Amino acid sequence: MTALLYALRGAVGAAHVLGDGDLAAWETDWRKRYRGRALAVVRPASTAEVAAVVRLCAAHGTALVPQGGNTGLVGASVPDASGTQVLLSTTRLNRVRAIDTDNLAMTVEAGCVLQAVQQAARDAGLLFPLSLAAEGSCTIGGNLATNAGGTQVLRYGNARELCLGLEVVTAQGEVWDGLGGLRKDNTGYDLRDLFIGSEGTLGVITAATLKLFPLPAATMTALAACASLPRCVALLALARERAGPTLTGFEAMNGFSLALVRRHLPQLRQPLAPAPWTVLLELSDAESAAHARGVLEALLETALERGLVDDAAVAESIEQSRTMWHLREAIPLAQAEEGPNIKHDIALPVSRIAAFCDATDAALARAFPGSRLVNFGHLGDGNLHYNLQAPEGVAPADFLREHEAAVNAVVYDAVVAHGGSISAEHGIGALKRDELARRKPPVALSMMRAIKQALDPQGLLNPGRLL
Ligand code: FAD
Ligand code: ZN
Repeated sequence: MTALLYALRGAVGAAHVLGDGDLAAWETDWRKRYRGRALAVVRPASTAEVAAVVRLCAAHGTALVPQGGNTGLVGASVPDASGTQVLLSTTRLNRVRAIDTDNLAMTVEAGCVLQAVQQAARDAGLLFPLSLAAEGSCTIGGNLATNAGGTQVLRYGNARELCLGLEVVTAQGEVWDGLGGLRKDNTGYDLRDLFIGSEGTLGVITAATLKLFPLPAATMTALAACASLPRCVALLALARERAGPTLTGFEAMNGFSLALVRRHLPQLRQPLAPAPWTVLLELSDAESAAHARGVLEALLETALERGLVDDAAVAESIEQSRTMWHLREAIPLAQAEEGPNIKHDIALPVSRIAAFCDATDAALARAFPGSRLVNFGHLGDGNLHYNLQAPEGVAPADFLREHEAAVNAVVYDAVVAHGGSISAEHGIGALKRDELARRKPPVALSMMRAIKQALDPQGLLNPGRLL
């Protein structure tokens, strides 16, 4: 055993340094696109243990990859193939440290699973609104390290907007205590915001103070069928006008997305007939379910009168609401059943989305005849999951291998031309690192590199990711 492994055992206990045996669960990413090999998986249980691990790795010049729930989608949470990197798993840092109901804040450790954080808030009669389909496995540390988005962003913002403070172990193994529940703190550079979205390249997040909100009295969900994307956008404007801040979800799904759900998950009932676009609206109401239903029905009636919507269904029960969300959440599963596709997680100004899709749908149809678009996402905040599936009858893996680079060029050129971003919520990781280097303005890249150099001069934290 090397001196480093011996010392790590001393720091966290031999049972929590996994060196040999099957480490595949930690070494393979969720999409099974990246398979690495770790020198060891180390599982510290406290901030002090994390600091000790980082100091030992720094002293040995050994690179370190932080990992939470390993649900990341850009290959940033698994080691490379060299067998020389230590994987630091945060899952034993899983305590809720404090809930401050008067200040609407809670402090939790980085390895807490998102669903457990939501539940702890609910148990205190409050809401932690971050919500994504991976919430049963992803951790709050991972959510902050990727600045996760999800389905409630149009009302509550990304993980960044939901964070008041952080505790971080620096690349030198020092502990920065930046916790605390302040809404105002203008004392210089915002260090918290540097670590949020840094994908494990600047420090290890060990705890966070999070914003809480009053629990709504009721949430109410509806589906609406739209003939075109511009009509979905017009429906969004109407919903904002009528529902104001009670509009908490606005998801759009193109016809092919729901056709895939129909094909692969036929047990899921689809309340509306197939349409070019289906929108899922969610209202969170401080008064009552009846009030929410009233607002939702009135706004959909206006939308029908104006011809924005051709058909609509308002959920009659919590059960029906869940079914509507299941349809939306089933799209990633259904497309996986259909076979791997070429994925893009893009952001655009809502006002440019229809023009982007018009131009890019047509360009892809010309260049890759028969290819099929799975286009769905968080339309309310301008985030599309814009994925290209192989033509019927073409092996998906072959299509991906042969055309991924060319498809990406078409899509990302159009994204940039329409004022968008090549990564809305999943991050950069290994998957989009070269794309970022090509497309981010050189001035921005050089500031990012200067920050990395200042905070991690040895380059030991998640090397080769992001930059
Ligand atoms: P990991 O995958 O373990 O790590 C992700 C990154 O964070 C890595 O770079 C890692 O090094 C770093 N990291 C992890 N913990 C720490 C820490 N404590 N300190 C420093 N760095 C750390 N994402 C969205 O934004 N919106 C969605 O709607 C969404 N839906 C998803 C649905 C499914 C089914 C799946 C599988 C994923 C989805 N994701 C979504 C992506 C993923 O869930 C998020 O990126 C999530 O925030 C990752 O959390 P994690 O704990 O799994 O992090
Ligand atoms: Zn998403």
